[in-house]
Amino acid sequence: MKIAFFGTQFYERELFDKHNTDGKHELIYYNESLNAEITNLAKGCVGVCAFVTDVVDEKTIENLAEIGIKLIDLRSAGYNNVDLKAAKKHQIKVLRVPAYSPQAVAEHAVALILTLNRKTHKAYNQVRENNFSLNNLLGFNLFEKTIGVVGTGKIGTAFCKIMLGFGCKIIAFDIKENKELQQKGVVYKSLDELLIASDIISIHCPLTPATNHLFDKNAFKKTKKGVMLINTSRGAMIKIDDAIESLKTQQIGYLGIDVYEQEEHLFFKDRSQSIIDDDLFERLLTFNNVLITPHQGFFTKEALEGIATTTIQNFTDFEDGNPLKTEIII
Ligand code: NAD
Repeated sequence: MKIAFFGTQFYERELFDKHNTDGKHELIYYNESLNAEITNLAKGCVGVCAFVTDVVDEKTIENLAEIGIKLIDLRSAGYNNVDLKAAKKHQIKVLRVPAYSPQAVAEHAVALILTLNRKTHKAYNQVRENNFSLNNLLGFNLFEKTIGVVGTGKIGTAFCKIMLGFGCKIIAFDIKENKELQQKGVVYKSLDELLIASDIISIHCPLTPATNHLFDKNAFKKTKKGVMLINTSRGAMIKIDDAIESLKTQQIGYLGIDVYEQEEHLFFKDRSQSIIDDDLFERLLTFNNVLITPHQGFFTKEALEGIATTTIQNFTDFEDGNPLKTEIII
């Protein structure tokens, strides 16, 4: 089966080639991100393989349908960038990689917490300049702190288990309760109760109309003063201009984000020689208690292997008419 991959990076290509045993599928790689303007690049293919930065909106899907595309295979878990209604209308199947390594993202959320708290990024630079002062490095114990986890699916569950190991008290908010976590001592609360009681809040639910800008000025008003907010989910979970105001008043004491609402204009490229035309992003960079990573939560060897295996299996299942285990059905 012939597939056009959009927005690909070199580190992915070799893994997809490795898992494409005996060259069963013809994989065509493009650096460009998918959008309505460049769908013609997929002419002659049965499917396209897209990433989180690709714009798979109604117009893109309409154009893909016109050139005979039957499959959109996402090499990601999240699918908020795909117009599922348009895909259904054009009878295009949408598959994804629902789980590859929840630990990868959960561990990255913990890395953000530890870095913001113990300021290892600052210590690293300071020591390289022979500055051994402790003046700016004061942290706090995680032991017995209350962690609020929003979304206890695969990643949220892995995150809870790690934080339980630190001796933290975990409260959670989800539309579904996870019995295994409850047995381990995780207590489910309303979102408001979670906001009020948490020292650290970590977001692990998908971006949907219900969760879009869930963290806005009204939410920040309810949090503890100086709360630490961690987002490895999707950028639009946080209304970033409201977060900036709350950082200014120190209502938010620490912000760690691996995702940013407008990230498709920034992330996954070296822009070190460019002028960044995003004033909110630039304002975030001025705070010494904000840590931004470029959507790297998933980026471990194990996760990339998992993504490649499932993606190639998705192509094979589609081609062979097998049940589509990872299909997104609306
Ligand atoms: P999952 O589907 O296993 O879990 C999501 C959880 O969120 C579920 O328990 C669900 O019930 C809950 N949820 C859904 N709507 C909710 C709502 N309105 N309020 C509260 N809870 C709600 O997903 P997952 O694999 O744990 O991934 C979570 C998210 O992490 C993904 O949607 C994706 O956006 C993000 N992600 C980020 C990276 C990264 O590299 N930073 C990588 C993979 C996934």
